[in-house]
Amino acid sequence: MHELLERKKGLHRTILIVDDEMIEREMLGYMLQDLYEVKYAENGVKALEIMRKDKSISLVILDLHMPEMDGYSLLEIIRADGELRRIPVIVLTSEKEAEVKSLQLGAADFITKPYEVPEVIRARVGRSIELAESSVIIHETERDALTGLFNKEFFIEYGKRLDALNDNMPMDAIVLDINRFHVVNELYGREYGDLVLKRIGDGIHEMVQSTGGLACRSGSNSFGIYLPHDEQLKDTISGYVQMIDESLGDGKISVRMGIYMDDGRAGDIEHRFDCARLACHKLRNSYATNYAFYNAEIHNREMHSEHLINDMDKALAEKQFKVYYQPKYNVTGDKPVLTSAEALVRWEHPEFGMVSPGEFISLFENNGLIHRLDRYVWNEAAAQIKRWRDEFGATIPVSVNVSRVDIFDPQLGEELCEITQKNGLIPENLLLEITESAYTDNSQQIVDTVAALRDRGFKIEMDDFGCGYSSLNMLTVLPIDALKLDMKFIRNIERDPKGLRLVEIMIDIARLLEVPVIAEGVETKEQMKLLKGIGCDVIQGYYFSRPVPAQEFEKHIRAKLEG
Ligand code: C2E
Ligand code: CA
Ligand code: CA
Repeated sequence: MHELLERKKGLHRTILIVDDEMIEREMLGYMLQDLYEVKYAENGVKALEIMRKDKSISLVILDLHMPEMDGYSLLEIIRADGELRRIPVIVLTSEKEAEVKSLQLGAADFITKPYEVPEVIRARVGRSIELAESSVIIHETERDALTGLFNKEFFIEYGKRLDALNDNMPMDAIVLDINRFHVVNELYGREYGDLVLKRIGDGIHEMVQSTGGLACRSGSNSFGIYLPHDEQLKDTISGYVQMIDESLGDGKISVRMGIYMDDGRAGDIEHRFDCARLACHKLRNSYATNYAFYNAEIHNREMHSEHLINDMDKALAEKQFKVYYQPKYNVTGDKPVLTSAEALVRWEHPEFGMVSPGEFISLFENNGLIHRLDRYVWNEAAAQIKRWRDEFGATIPVSVNVSRVDIFDPQLGEELCEITQKNGLIPENLLLEITESAYTDNSQQIVDTVAALRDRGFKIEMDDFGCGYSSLNMLTVLPIDALKLDMKFIRNIERDPKGLRLVEIMIDIARLLEVPVIAEGVETKEQMKLLKGIGCDVIQGYYFSRPVPAQEFEKHIRAKLEG
């Protein structure tokens, strides 16, 4: 009877046995073949092939020691793969240490060699499959211990069930974030931070209890609330925000909420929360408002961004990105002299027309696309330097922007060298602008990267100086070749003596570091004269020229050569 039940349960399920020893494979297969369909692989590579092809695999039994690809590597690949992750893996082992390591890699269970009796093995296999199939997330409980709210996974799961049960009754989604929570933790301690989280959790409990619905803690400082749709929410939401802020007592801490109101066209729960999160993000830097509704504007902006990201591949292939050049003039002598140019990218989009980098650079920085765009621009700029040299017999150095993410690329120096060599240039022809704020993210990494680039002969200009937080200390250990003042310091120097004084101080710092100062965003003659007067070396800005296509830039080269 028991045997029969077991057989019925196992029916239609496929098990993959991965072992390089044929005898071992056969033995295990023999124990399981009347309960399951059994497949075999003699190493990790073969196993992976089968798993990717045959979507019906319910469980993998895996030997750790195999040629080609061993069990550990396969485990790692399975756990990192969104599709395969759901398949439980039972590891075959004879050593205790191996168990710990496999557990860390996400193994579901073990079978120890030499093999136990067939009943035990079958029981383990059956149990693992059952556990995986009832989608019990091992090591995770339903609720966040601190607030008693659901954790994110269960929240989404129960939300889906709720939707199904209620025949997709309209539901609103709210994302609640705590403003500058990491600062709260740092300033007042973790214990206080925990207290804040608890109070907010209580507030949310109350809200959900009075309206019906579900709530979760979805991240360290973030909550999700799923409520039956309520038109009145537009009027009551400020009350909720206020209630929570007040429960925190002293006004030191505040929250923001992004709301997605069901409009009858809503997608699934995940989509609703994506929208609510976008609305919430819009408030990140605003202190005046503490809630926002997802609306057509956010939607359109999101669609536009999505559009740009999707178009990127094609745009690169079709050379829709155009590199413009803006001159930098040395103003230390009687007459301004062209010293170099900055390469600035534009996108001639077939649909949207000219798109400025302000619109797409940060977008591309968030998903790694910037890596490819930057290399495209570096190549274009290097080729342009060469073209000008061939045509005018003079080398005009061009500076290119190096993004924050490039700094973490171990190939960076090598790639840049290849680009210069390919065009018959030396490294110092291609100047590298690195924004100061990159220096604050991970100072050791950047110091190392910059040092390595300089060893290869590249010159580094620190861009947007004054906007980041580099301390004077940091500046003195940093190997750089020029400071480029952020534009915002230039804007008001004509009218604001304090502003001018600030620029003077920054120029003093540059003197201390023994590097030249570049001022950008210089638009008027007056600004130019003031800056020259206080010792600024190089000037870039609309006063001399806007960024222009290469051909238009040539008039600056001609003027220089005609002297
Ligand atoms: P940035 O590197 O600080 O570049 C200077 C920006 O100031 C450019 O804007 C330039 O057109 C503008 N500008 C120059 N002179 C003046 C002036 O006198 N007045 C005013 N109001 N603005 C002036 P753009 O070209 O829109 O670039 C914006 C930012 O986009 C750049 O700031 C840079 O961070 C980024 N960017 C541009 N091209 C690239 C690129 O190829 N790669 C990367 N990673 N970033 C780029
Ligand atoms: Ca720049
Ligand atoms: Ca800049």
